[in-house]
Amino acid sequence: MDVQHQIDYVVRQGKIENGPKRVLIIGASGGYGLASRISAAFGSGAATIGVFFERPAMKKRTASAGWYKTAAFTEKAEARGLYAKNINGDAFSHEVKQATIALIKEDLGQVDMVVYSLAAPARQLPDGAVVRSALKPIDEPFVGKTIDFNTGELRSISLEPANPEEVADTVKVMGGEDWELWIAAMLEAGVLADGCITTNYTYLGSEVTWPIYYHGTIGKAKEDLDRAAKALNVPMTQVSGKAHVVVMKGLLTQAASAIPGMSVYLSLLFKAMKRAGTHEGCIEQTTRLFATQLFSADDLRLDEQARIRMDDLELADEVQAYVKDNWSGVNEATLSELTDFAGYRQAFLELHGFGFNEVDYEADVDPVVEMNLVFGA
Ligand code: NAD
Repeated sequence: MDVQHQIDYVVRQGKIENGPKRVLIIGASGGYGLASRISAAFGSGAATIGVFFERPAMKKRTASAGWYKTAAFTEKAEARGLYAKNINGDAFSHEVKQATIALIKEDLGQVDMVVYSLAAPARQLPDGAVVRSALKPIDEPFVGKTIDFNTGELRSISLEPANPEEVADTVKVMGGEDWELWIAAMLEAGVLADGCITTNYTYLGSEVTWPIYYHGTIGKAKEDLDRAAKALNVPMTQVSGKAHVVVMKGLLTQAASAIPGMSVYLSLLFKAMKRAGTHEGCIEQTTRLFATQLFSADDLRLDEQARIRMDDLELADEVQAYVKDNWSGVNEATLSELTDFAGYRQAFLELHGFGFNEVDYEADVDPVVEMNLVFGA
């Protein structure tokens, strides 16, 4: 249902002129990656290959949400006559990179866009060692509030600062190194088309979230994306291509739900943006990115780090003023009045496939749903 709503939105916006035709999405089964895939396929008729790490159903145990979303996307894309194939495996691994390159060579020849939209808690290195990302502040402890999803109660949270190893590990997992490895392997294999672009999504957010986000371990990893984009722009000249870091708005995705303290910010943000009539979800963001920035004749809206800014509406003065003015006033008594916790909660349910009126949750269904997988189980 979530996938159908996203497709409907893209179709309503009309064709993305000069949009991409052959797209690889790494991290294609949720949040911004899935939305990018839907914008490319249903907005500009692109053939898509999706790479992701999802759990299929086992006997009576259901598959992960991203599995069902990808199966639904694939079925709907194929029904439209669009090419859509999937690779389920660890994108950090050499095997998955090589399987993806082989598939591109065999089926598409080359791709003209690579979306890198991975959000992973850990990365296995070639020697077998596993490094984990930590969502922690740096230098100063973080003290904040979080909303209990079920009861609406506010709880205090405090986190000690990360040590240097945790910072380095987070950069290793969520920084730009693996993006560079993918592009290097694809350039070497000759599977990037002339004029190919590659994107990686980042978040800066509001100053109220900087202590845990932008000035924290994850912010260091995001800074590394800026470095990687600059570095990639050198080899990308071989195909007259370009690497872009794109700043997206804060939204509730699987990855975002793991960030401490984001629930208060996002609930306030949703309230302020809905009030201003500027609220967007992942699909609105990626479709606007494609139509008005990446594939538009207009100049790119870049900041001083050459990042494309899609967080313009989140950072609008009136929106941020609302968030800051009410930041310390959020408590259990004021939650439903000051924030859009109801909308935040609904977004959380939808993320996992719940909360859709059209769905009969009592119906007996088979949890096993097959999809067109080229690699992985
Ligand atoms: P998400 O959790 O919804 O999606 C993550 C994707 O990565 C999924 O498809 C998952 O299967 C895949 N993945 C994770 N580990 C993998 C692995 N080892 N191998 C293959 N695939 C793997 O996350 P999201 O919020 O859409 O995040 C995507 C990117 O957008 C991240 O870089 C994130 O920082 C960025 N971003 C998110 C927000 C936000 O508010 N959610 C805002 C700005 C930028």
